[in-house]
Amino acid sequence: IYVLGIETSCDETAAAVVKNGTEILSNIVASQMESHKRFGGVVPEIASRHHVEQITFVIEEAMNQAGVSFQQLSAIAVTQGPGLVGALLIGVNAAKALAFAYGLPLVAVHHIAGHIYANRLVADMKFPLLSLVVSGGHTELVYMEEHGKFQVIGETRDDAAGEAYDKVARALNLPYPGGPHIDRLAHEGKVTIDLPRAWLEEGSYDFSFSGLKSAVLNTLHNAKQRGEHIDPKDMAASFQASVIDVLVTKTVNAAKEYNVRQVLLAGGVAANRGLRAELERKMAELNGIELVIPPLSLCTDNAAMIAAAGTVLFEQGKRADMALNADPSLELA
Ligand code: ATP
Ligand code: MG
Ligand code: FE
Repeated sequence: IYVLGIETSCDETAAAVVKNGTEILSNIVASQMESHKRFGGVVPEIASRHHVEQITFVIEEAMNQAGVSFQQLSAIAVTQGPGLVGALLIGVNAAKALAFAYGLPLVAVHHIAGHIYANRLVADMKFPLLSLVVSGGHTELVYMEEHGKFQVIGETRDDAAGEAYDKVARALNLPYPGGPHIDRLAHEGKVTIDLPRAWLEEGSYDFSFSGLKSAVLNTLHNAKQRGEHIDPKDMAASFQASVIDVLVTKTVNAAKEYNVRQVLLAGGVAANRGLRAELERKMAELNGIELVIPPLSLCTDNAAMIAAAGTVLFEQGKRADMALNADPSLELA
């Protein structure tokens, strides 16, 4: 089974061909990061324009590198949502046009299902499993009993982890996106600043990062007023320690309670070195639960993950038709 995946939910225009849902034949990502950097965030109008300019080239490149013809494809999988509506529409319409032109089945994929299925490109999925999804727009613990079935057992009540990283980075005058910069600084600094951890109610697997973000901003503001200097490295280290502590503790607790065989890490923040290391350390103490962490290139937005998730849906007989529309607030479960 060869599936072409197309992803345009945010600021990367991506296309990939995946064989049998597990083997990457090509994985092309055209990032628009440089265009959005000077605005300190993704500008939706600019994102849409870039997608229009890049999409044909990116798909062609994915097909060429894979060495697969459209006639050989089994299906085309595309991100339906969530994301920026104008950005999603470019991918959805490209997918519809190709599916129509070549008479191929069309499969609609949830962007977060894609992030989770990035793991299937590196390891067999063993159910039941738990996935910690940490990205620019999502922070969720997703329980899966079988392929294609997602149960969200915890989610953020305010900011996503990646969003908190980007906002704190901005306060520290670091370039956008700030996640990787904080990660780098955190490894050079020391945890010297006492910051809150939002555990929420006993037994809750929900998250909250806005209190932590405010605490960082207030600490920086107060120090400035008093003319005191806070080393950005120590602030980065302290902030990162708080985020990781909550993410890892809740993931480990949920993995135990739900008696899972596997824990999967997913989403852009999964690229965080501190998070990867701490999750590895804590999971090693839980004998018998396998931890899967995809390589960095599969953690951030890409289309191989969409093709991987799309392959499973295709095999389950799920099909979209020519009425498929982008859904900026599509639900996972
Ligand atoms: P979503 O997937 O929720 O729709 P998105 O696609 O914009 O959102 P991703 O591309 O999956 O999000 O992830 C981007 C986020 O990951 C950004 O917030 C970025 O700062 C963060 N990020 C990337 N690398 C790191 C890192 N090393 N440490 C922390 N955060 C990181
Ligand atoms: Mg992105
Ligand atoms: Fe994403």
